[in-house]
Amino acid sequence: MIAVIFELKAEYGFASVDTEIHLWHLVREGGTVALCDRTMTVDSRTRSSADLRDIFPERLCPACRQRYCELLPNMTHPAPAAPAAHSGA
Ligand SMILES: [Zn+2]
Repeated sequence: MIAVIFELKAEYGFASVDTEIHLWHLVREGGTVALCDRTMTVDSRTRSSADLRDIFPERLCPACRQRYCELLPNMTHPAPAAPAAHSGA
C-alpha cells in the first residue's frame, strides 16, 4: 500500500529566517511543490505533518489545507467493506 506522506514547509515573509514564519504549506515528502502549486525552496524549514495539530489554522495555507482535506478520505478510508445489510421485508 502506498501512503502519501506530507511535510510542512515554511513560507517566510519578506524577512529573514530568524523572524516569525509567515505561512506553512503542505508538500509531498521529499518534494518542493506544495498542494497549492507553490514551489517551495529546498532550504525552507520543514516539519512533519504530525505537527499539523500544533499549527494554528490561520498559519496553514488555506489552499493547501483544502487540497489536503480532499485527499485525506481516500487515504484514511480505503474501501469500506461493510456488507450490505439486509433490511427486513
Ligand atoms: Zn499552500
